[in-house]
Amino acid sequence: MDIVTRIVIIGGGPGGYEAALVASRLGADVVLVEAEGVGGASVLTDCVPSKTLIATADVMSSFESADELGIRIGGVSVGGSCVTGVNLDKVNRRVKDLASAQSVDIGESLSKAGVQIIRGRGRLTPDRQVEVDLPDGTVTLYHADVILLATGVRPREVPEAMPDGERILNWKQVYNLKELPPELIVVGSGVTGAEFAGAYQALGSAVTLVSSRDRVLPGEDADAAEVLESVFRRRGMRVLSRSRAASAVRKGDRVVVTLEDGRTVEGSHVLMAVGSLPNTEGLGLEEAGVELTRSGHIEVDRVSRTSAPGVYAAGDVTGVLLLASVAAMQGRIAMYHALGEAVWPINLKRVSSNIFTSPEVATVGQTNVKAQNDSPGFNEYKLALDSNPRAKMLGFKDGFVKLFSRKGSDTVVGGVVVAPRASELIHPITMAVDLHLTVDQVASVFTVYPSLSGSVAEAARRLHADVKDED
Ligand SMILES: Cc1cc2nc3c(=O)[nH]c(=O)nc-3n(C[C@H](O)[C@H](O)[C@H](O)COP(=O)(O)OP(=O)(O)OC[C@H]3O[C@@H](n4cnc5c(N)ncnc54)[C@H](O)[C@@H]3O)c2cc1C
Repeated sequence: MDIVTRIVIIGGGPGGYEAALVASRLGADVVLVEAEGVGGASVLTDCVPSKTLIATADVMSSFESADELGIRIGGVSVGGSCVTGVNLDKVNRRVKDLASAQSVDIGESLSKAGVQIIRGRGRLTPDRQVEVDLPDGTVTLYHADVILLATGVRPREVPEAMPDGERILNWKQVYNLKELPPELIVVGSGVTGAEFAGAYQALGSAVTLVSSRDRVLPGEDADAAEVLESVFRRRGMRVLSRSRAASAVRKGDRVVVTLEDGRTVEGSHVLMAVGSLPNTEGLGLEEAGVELTRSGHIEVDRVSRTSAPGVYAAGDVTGVLLLASVAAMQGRIAMYHALGEAVWPINLKRVSSNIFTSPEVATVGQTNVKAQNDSPGFNEYKLALDSNPRAKMLGFKDGFVKLFSRKGSDTVVGGVVVAPRASELIHPITMAVDLHLTVDQVASVFTVYPSLSGSVAEAARRLHADVKDED
C-alpha cells in the first residue's frame, strides 16, 4: 500500500506555490493555505505590479534619446498617437488587471496539479499540525506530515510616517493613485526606493529621493550605483544623500518630510520604502519549536529545514535573499528534501538578480570579492558600454559589463551589467558562473554583431589579456 505524504503549506507566494506544484507532481497530498490570494505579495502587490508599472516607465525613458535618434515628439505622432504624458489611472488599472490575471493563472495550475487551495489564515499548533481561521469565522485543523512556512514580509512602518494610503504611501498602495503625483518624495534608496524613484521620474513626476546613506543602492556594486545616481541627477532627480527621514506629515494637500538634522522637504506625496519585516506573528512558531534569527526571520539551513522536525520554511520570511526566484528555489528544495528526492542545497553564489531601473543593474555570483578580500585571489575587468557599436546605434552611453574571475583557475565567479535589459544580458554570465566556465571559454563564444552581448565576450577577452600581462 502506498503511503501518501500530507503536506500543508502556509503562504501562496512563489515560495509556497512553487513548492505545492513540485510536491503534488511528486505524488504528495498538498494543501495550500493562503490569506489574500495565490501568487502572494509577489504577484498581487510587489514584484509583478512594480515591474508592470516600470514597463510603462521604460517606454517613457526610451524617449530620452529620441532627439539624438532623429525622432520628433510633440505635435508629430509616435506610433499613431502624440506622446504627451501618461494616464496613471489607466496604467494602474492595467497593473492590477495583469496581477489578478496572473493570480488566476497560478490558481488554475495549482488546481490542475491537484493542490487543495484553502482561503484562510494558518498557524502551527504546538504538536505541529495546522489550524486555519476560515473567512466564515470557523477554525479547521489540517493534519500534516510536513509543513512549509512561506508567509513572506510586509513593509516596515515608521510610527512618525504612517501611511494613509492617499498621500503617505507604502509600495502596495501606489496602484490606487488616479493621477500622477506632481512632486513625489521617495524615502529609502535601496532597490525598491530606487526602482520607484526612477519609474515615477520617467512617468513625469518631479522626484526627490531621500537616502540615509552616502549613495543610492547601498550594498550593491559601487560602480553601478554611481552610474545610476548620476543618471538620476542628470534627468533632474533631487537626490539627498546622508539624509535620514524622521517623520512625514500631511499639511492639507501637501506632505512635509522632516529629516533628522531638522531640514524639511515638501511634496505632494511621499512613498516610504524603508525595508520590510517578516510575517511571523501569530504563527505559533515558539510553541512549535521553530527558532528565529536575530533579525526575526525564520532560521533555516540550506535545504530549508527549520529547527522543528517536519517544518520547513521558504522565501522572504527566512530573510535568506529577498527574491522571488530564491523563494521558489527554497520551496522546491524543501519539497525534494521532505519527499526523499535527490536535493542540491541552495547555493547563493549562483543567484542572478536585477534592479529594474533605467538603465537596469543586473548581478550574478560573487561581485564584491575585491572589496571584501582586497583581491588576493581574484581578477576583475570593467568594460564601459559607450564603445559598444550597438549601444552607439541605440543612443545610450551609461553602463558597463564587469566580470570577476578566480586567479589560477581563471573561472568566472561573478558579473555586473549596467545596461538597458541588463536582466537579459546577465544570463550568459550566469551560465558561465553556474557551469564554472573559464574566462577563455566565455571569450571564445560567438556573439551577434552588433550586439550588447558582444561586450560580455569582449570583457572576457580583456580580462584574459590583463591576466596574461600580470603573468
Ligand atoms: C516592490 C517590490 C518589488 C519586487 N520586485 C522583485 C523582482 O523584480 N524580482 C524578484 O525576484 N523579487 C522581487 N521582489 C521580491 C519578491 O516579491 C519576494 O522575494 C517574493 O514575494 C517572496 O515570495 P514569498 O513566497 O516568500 O512571499 P510572498 O510573495 O510575500 O507571499 C507570502 C504570502 O503568504 C500569505 N500569508 C502570510 N501569512 C499567512 C498566514 N498566516 N496564513 C495564510 N497565508 C499567509 C500572504 O498573504 C502572502 O500572499 C520585490 C519586492 C518588492 C517589495
